[in-house]
Amino acid sequence: MLIVKKFGGSSVADRECIFRVAERCIEDYKKGNDIVVVLSAMGDTTDELIEKAKNITPEPSRREMDMLLTTGEQISVSLMAMAMDSLGVPAISLNAFQIRMHCTSAYGNARLKRVEAERIRHELDSRKIVIVTGFQGVNKYEDYATLGRGGSDTTAVAIAAALHADACEIYTDVNGVYTADPRVVPNARKLDAISYDEMLELASLGARVLHNRSVEMAKKYGVQLVVRSSLNREEGTVVKEVVKLEKMLISGVASDKNTSRVSVIGVDDKPGVAFKIFNTLAKKGINVDIILQSVGREGTKDISFTIAQDDLNKTLKILEENKEALTIQNIGHEDSVAKISIVGAGMMSNPGVAAKMFESMFNANVNIKMISTSEVRITVLIDENDVDRAMRAVHDGFGLGD
Ligand code: ASP
Ligand code: MG
Repeated sequence: MLIVKKFGGSSVADRECIFRVAERCIEDYKKGNDIVVVLSAMGDTTDELIEKAKNITPEPSRREMDMLLTTGEQISVSLMAMAMDSLGVPAISLNAFQIRMHCTSAYGNARLKRVEAERIRHELDSRKIVIVTGFQGVNKYEDYATLGRGGSDTTAVAIAAALHADACEIYTDVNGVYTADPRVVPNARKLDAISYDEMLELASLGARVLHNRSVEMAKKYGVQLVVRSSLNREEGTVVKEVVKLEKMLISGVASDKNTSRVSVIGVDDKPGVAFKIFNTLAKKGINVDIILQSVGREGTKDISFTIAQDDLNKTLKILEENKEALTIQNIGHEDSVAKISIVGAGMMSNPGVAAKMFESMFNANVNIKMISTSEVRITVLIDENDVDRAMRAVHDGFGLGD
């Protein structure tokens, strides 16, 4: 078998962790498998590198930032190769240049386009364990570009797809994907399996187990993923196309506090206004999430929408600058809001799921400000202070706990 194993920063944080990972990989190697290991930077290295840059200048060039950040992964892969060597197993570390992992040019947020398999295959053929830097690619300017925070998962999936690997295992410091964040919901349960679509919703909602692009890519290329712990031998959670539904409608509950609500009040109630507002924001790179439009009155209407909290100041500035052109009378905003979502492929074919969610929230006395849905998700906007209580209420309401 050809197995791709990805280990996150906390799994390679120090010497002891590195040797634990090395031994685990060697175990599978000695069974005759080909092993490719993808690593993140050790512990908080990436954060520390960002701090270092900020210490030099508040706005470092994005190219140089990526030159800096890619060193983190280079440290962990070379140390891992040394560890394996010292245990008597041939290993080689390789970076994005050596493998030729081609990506788009956007520094800090590049997408992998193509990963060449030749060099890795060559090294595997000579029975080496191949250790690859996660999180980085090479763009058309022959520069390093990073894939966005948490991007090593995507590297692992891209390599698994390129090599037609038999398995892609994502190791982390939790036992798998849970029905809710166990720190907030103590009786949260580990899922045995989850579908790509559900996982994609959860990952996009900020359930920090998998980089959302890694799930997108896994779905596209049919790479079956396993999320499991690097600290124990538990089975983990399988992410795949179709999951046989247990009697459950819902797979999980997730929350996202990085949200703000903006309202534009008294805009003209005529064609093209919504287009102009959201086009103006889109052109400046603002991602809009839930949108709600009021019923028109006396020729005007109000539109509210949510954005990432980090984008709030920028959004307000753009709206203010274009107030007249967009026919806005007033701009309002609310910072202390959060989203809570339920995700489940089962809701597609079952009525009453939304009602049940709202009932649980009503029982917990939580007020709903906005609602949005997709085929496998229902999201509501609520007061940030209500989030943990609402999570537990909804989790219990659907009987998700142990
Ligand atoms: N080291 C990078 C980060 O901290 C990439 C990763 O961990 O996947 O975001
Ligand atoms: Mg991660």
